[in-house]
Amino acid sequence: MVFSTALGVAYHDSNGKYHEVHVRTNGEVILSAGAIGSPQLLLLSGLGPSSYLSSLNIHVVRDHPFIGQYMADNPRTGVNILLRDSITDLGLRVVGITESGPYIESFTVAPNTPLTSIIPFVGSVALFNSSVQIIGGKITRPKSTGSLHLLSASNVTVSPSVRFNYYNHTEDVNECWNVVEVIRKLLATPTMEEYKFGGQNFEFLGLPLPEESSDYETIASFCRDTLSTFWHIHGGCLPNKVVDSILKVIGVDSLRVVDASTFFNSPGTNPQATTMMLGRYIGMKMLEERAANQGYPFLEYI
Ligand SMILES: Cc1cc2nc3c(=O)[nH]c(=O)nc-3n(C[C@H](O)[C@H](O)[C@H](O)COP(=O)(O)OP(=O)(O)OC[C@H]3O[C@@H](n4cnc5c(N)ncnc54)[C@H](O)[C@@H]3O)c2cc1C
Repeated sequence: MVFSTALGVAYHDSNGKYHEVHVRTNGEVILSAGAIGSPQLLLLSGLGPSSYLSSLNIHVVRDHPFIGQYMADNPRTGVNILLRDSITDLGLRVVGITESGPYIESFTVAPNTPLTSIIPFVGSVALFNSSVQIIGGKITRPKSTGSLHLLSASNVTVSPSVRFNYYNHTEDVNECWNVVEVIRKLLATPTMEEYKFGGQNFEFLGLPLPEESSDYETIASFCRDTLSTFWHIHGGCLPNKVVDSILKVIGVDSLRVVDASTFFNSPGTNPQATTMMLGRYIGMKMLEERAANQGYPFLEYI
C-alpha cells in the first residue's frame, strides 16, 4: 500500500496571522477537533471520498470513502411539565431505565429561562414564571446514522452541514417506545401527584405522552415531533473504516484522530469522561511506541 504522510498543520491565530507547524522526526499530527471538526478538517485536507472531493475541486490526497460517514447523535425524547412553583434544585437525575438500555433523565429549568435551546419545538419565545421539569430519554446506541458535507471547500470557518437521520431505523423508534412507557410509569407514581395542576392533570409544554394503546406510527410521530438532543455527537472517523485500532488514519503516516469522531457509540449518559479516558489510553500507547522505537522498556520510559 502506498502511504501518504502528514507533514504538519497550517493555521491562523486569533490575530489572523498565518502559521505552519511541521512534524518533527518520529512526530505526528494529532487531530482532536471533535466529531464535526475532525471529519471537516480531513476532507479539507484532501482525505475523503475521491469523487466527492473532486466535485468540490479539492485535491485528492487519498481516497477515504468513510470520512464524514456514520455520523450519529443520540436522540432525546420525552415530555416537559410546567410546575406550579419555582424549584431550586437544578441537578440532572437519572429517574428511570428501560430494559433495552436507554436512561431516563430529568432536570429542572428555573423560571424565566429561555427554553428554545432545550426544547426547540415549544416556539421561539418560551419564558415561564414557574419551573419547568424536563423528562427525557437518551436513545443509547442509535442505529440511524447520517453524513457530513462541506458548505465551503476552502474556508475552514464555515461549519459543515450534518444530517443524522434521527429515527430512520425501526430499532431506534422501538427504543423510544420503551422510553415513553417508562415515563408513563414514572408519571403514574404517587410522588408525581403533587405536580399536577389542581390535582387533576399535568400541564405539558409541547406534546403529552401518546395514549397507552398507541401503535408504532403514533409513537414514531411522537418521537420525531419531540426530538431534541443531549449533544453527544459522534462518528465520522470510525475505527476500521477511517482509523485503525490505535486511531492512526489508515494509509496515512504520522496522522492520528483522537476524539468522539472515533466512537461507534457514545456510551452512558456523559461521553466527556470517556473521551478523556480515550486521550489517556492513546497517550499511553504513544509513549509505549516511542519507548519501543528508541529501544528502552516502557515502564522505565514513564
Ligand atoms: C451544549 C453541550 C452540552 C454538553 N454537556 C455534556 C455533559 O454535561 N457531560 C458530558 O459528558 N458531555 C457533554 N457534552 C458532550 C461533550 O462535550 C462531548 O462529547 C465531548 O466534548 C467530545 O469531545 P471531543 O474531544 O470529541 O470534542 P470537543 O470537546 O468538541 O473538542 C473539539 C475542539 O476542537 C476545536 N476545533 C474544532 N474545529 C477546529 C478548527 N478547525 N480549528 C481549531 N480548533 C477546532 C473546538 O473548538 C473544540 O475545542 C455536551 C456537549 C454540548 C455541545
